[in-house]
Amino acid sequence: MNSSRRRLICAVAIPLLGCLPACGSPSAQPAPASRQPAAGTVNPITVDSTEEQIRQAVATARFGRKLTPKSWPNGARVAVCLTFDVDNELLQRANPLPVPLSVGEYGATTSLPRILDLLDRHQVPATFFIPAMGTMLHPEMVPAIIARNRHEIGVHGWIHEFWPAIGDASKEQRLLEQSIAYLAKASGKRPAGVRAPSSGFSPQTFDLIRKAGFLYDSSLLAADEPYEILSNGAPSGVIELPISEVDNDYVYYGETANGALPSPDAVFAIYKAEFDLAFQERTMFILTQHPHVGGRRSRIVQLDRLIAYIKSKGDVWFATMEQVATYVKESGR
Ligand SMILES: [Zn+2]
Repeated sequence: MNSSRRRLICAVAIPLLGCLPACGSPSAQPAPASRQPAAGTVNPITVDSTEEQIRQAVATARFGRKLTPKSWPNGARVAVCLTFDVDNELLQRANPLPVPLSVGEYGATTSLPRILDLLDRHQVPATFFIPAMGTMLHPEMVPAIIARNRHEIGVHGWIHEFWPAIGDASKEQRLLEQSIAYLAKASGKRPAGVRAPSSGFSPQTFDLIRKAGFLYDSSLLAADEPYEILSNGAPSGVIELPISEVDNDYVYYGETANGALPSPDAVFAIYKAEFDLAFQERTMFILTQHPHVGGRRSRIVQLDRLIAYIKSKGDVWFATMEQVATYVKESGR
C-alpha cells in the first residue's frame, strides 16, 4: 500500500475508532479511556476519585464466575470457536470513497465464499457476526451461510457503529433492536449472541444486551474461558465468550498494523501456540477473523493449516458460540 493510501485509511479509521486498531471488533484493543471517543456520561478515574467512585467506574460488566465445564461434549479437551466479523466496507463509513470501500467489498465478493468452502472441506462450524446493513449491501451472504446448515449468525451492530459514541441510551437501544430484527428476518432465526462493533460498550450497552435476552456476549477480554458477566456486583446470567486481540487477524494485518507483521507463517505460529495452551488447560480457543482481512490468499492458507492442525490433535469440540454457550449454561445448572 502506498503512503497516500495508507494516510487515507488512517484518516478514516482514527476518527471512527478513536485510535483503536480499526474494526477491531475484537481487534479493538482496549485503549486507555483518554484515547477513546467521548462517551458522554463516562467519568474518568482520576487521582481524586474515591475508592467507591473507582469501584463504580469499573462495575458495569466484569469477570464473574468461570463457566468452563468439567468436561466438553464427547470428552473433548477443548472447545474451539471459529468466528468471523463480516465488517466489509462498513469500516469505511466515515469517508465512503470507492478505493477504501473496495478493500472491504473484497470480503463479500471473494473471502466469504472462500471461507465457506474451507469450512465445508473441514466440516466444521463457525459463527458469523454481521452488521445488519452489511447483509443489505450483500444480500447473498446470509443465504450462503445458512445453506451450509452448520453455522451461526450473530449481531454486530446496524452499520458497525461505535456504541459509546451514540451518547443516547434510547437511540442505542433502538439500533440494537433493529439490528436483531433485521438479522432475524434475513436468517429466519433470532440471533442468540452479540459482538459489539469495535468492542465498544457504552455505560448502557451491557444493560441493553441483558434486556434483549441474548444468551451470550462476545465482546469482552477478561479471561481465556467462558465466564458469567458480573454487573454492578451481581451475577447477570449473561455468558461471556471472551475474545482476544492475540487471536485476531486485524492486529497483524489490519490497516493500522499494515506491514508490521506481514508473515502469515508468523501469525500461524501465534495462533498455534494459543491453541496449544488452551488444549493443555482444557478450556476454549476462540479465533476471530475478518473476511476482508484474513480471507486474502496468503492468509487463508494459514487458516486452513491451523484448522488441520487443531483437528489432528483429536479430542477437540468445534462448535458455534451458541452451542458452547448453551452447553456451559446447561452444565452450570
Ligand atoms: Zn467488526
